[in-house]
Amino acid sequence: MGCRERAAKKDLLRIVAIKDECVPDHRGTLPGRGAYVHPALVCLDLAVRRRAFPRALRAPGPLDTTALRHYVEQATP
Ligand SMILES: [Zn+2]
Repeated sequence: MGCRERAAKKDLLRIVAIKDECVPDHRGTLPGRGAYVHPALVCLDLAVRRRAFPRALRAPGPLDTTALRHYVEQATP
């Protein structure tokens, strides 16, 4: 979703919206519509800049990605 490179689903991080926040669903168990990005900051930031999350997750307004960004920061070296 971010860089638009093709990838297998298992290599991507699933994101769901809970209230007005983007939440990483690293186990793939959270209900609802999911968006997929590479677990990398470049990819995440691209998706944020394109406002791809509210669109992909059908959110009525902007979504907070602060916690998601922290998660990706820690997950990637
Ligand atoms: Zn990507």
